[in-house]
Amino acid sequence: MSSRFSDAELLHYITTEETGVAEKLFAEARKVREEYYRTDVYFRGLIEFTNYCKNDCFYCGIRAGNQSIERYRLTLEQILNSCRVGDLLGYQTFVLQGGEDPYFTDERILEIVENIRKTYPDHAITLSIGERSRESYEAFFRAGANRYLLRHETANEEHYQKMHPRSMSLQNRKQCLYDLKDIGYQVGAGFMVGTPFQTQENLLEDLRFIEELQPHMVGIGPFIPQASTPFGSYPQGSFEQTLRMVALTRLLLPRALIPATTALGTISPEGRERGLMAGANVVMPNLSPKAVRKLYALYDNKICTGDEAAECRLCMEGRIRNFGFVPNMCRGDFKESRKINRKVEEVE
Ligand code: SAM
Repeated sequence: MSSRFSDAELLHYITTEETGVAEKLFAEARKVREEYYRTDVYFRGLIEFTNYCKNDCFYCGIRAGNQSIERYRLTLEQILNSCRVGDLLGYQTFVLQGGEDPYFTDERILEIVENIRKTYPDHAITLSIGERSRESYEAFFRAGANRYLLRHETANEEHYQKMHPRSMSLQNRKQCLYDLKDIGYQVGAGFMVGTPFQTQENLLEDLRFIEELQPHMVGIGPFIPQASTPFGSYPQGSFEQTLRMVALTRLLLPRALIPATTALGTISPEGRERGLMAGANVVMPNLSPKAVRKLYALYDNKICTGDEAAECRLCMEGRIRNFGFVPNMCRGDFKESRKINRKVEEVE
């Protein structure tokens, strides 16, 4: 497949420390993003419904082996209530994210998806609940789930093994992504920048992998250490490099929906806004009940754990407008053809 960039060019942008080069890259990414999405920023309501997880990823604060965190699960009623609050605030996408919690069997996930779908026939339902069988993914899709977020984390086998226990495999994770796409989900892949042992070539491989997979969404955030994990004493990922990866992703996948992640906002006060300036076009304010926000502690010092859903929405809206972007509460689906300077402008 032909690419806009050669490996050497990508590596140059991945590694450059020249601000002038980075600024040009961000400007180009903004231009491309505007061709497809103007200055719109899509809002997704995030519901972090369980912090139990059977996996033991070395970087993650909710890993099974972390005994120093308090665990929680939302009930079906609490999840539906979060959706109700979200709907009142104008959200048309609900993102249900959680650890790989064995309590949430396929039957329980189906019950949740069916209930949300029944109440909100036109909203988008996004799942982000890790690796399951193709049959499970098919059943969730039939029940009304439309999108699935599953970051590949790193596209390099060796690097993947250094970040995960032996029970986990990159091959399976990639297979899940291909299955999800094949079933018909809008699929989100993605990776962390600056995880321990990551090389610049690994980041190049991440970009090549997303070019090959062609996901509809790409989540990119800096690695941030969480003190009670095996990676707790490693340095956090570079803010500037994360922005460059966002920009390169925009240039390689012009139509992708790319969130300005909470992790970006955690390592820099205007991190999410800078993410938008580097080509991102989605934000995911929190809809989870305030009481559990702090417990979904993937990494230390996570922002936005103290506000009510309405405050989060208003705060994000203000921040976005300050940088010249326009909040858009529509579903914001991935569209096959969307260049807005063509005559086929879509009305949402
Ligand atoms: N269990 C689901 C899965 O595996 O996709 C979703 C939850 S998982 C905790 C969500 C994402 O959090 C991961 O894909 C990972 O990229 C990110 N994450 C976990 N620990 C992190 C850390 N220390 N710093 C930054 N991001 C982290």
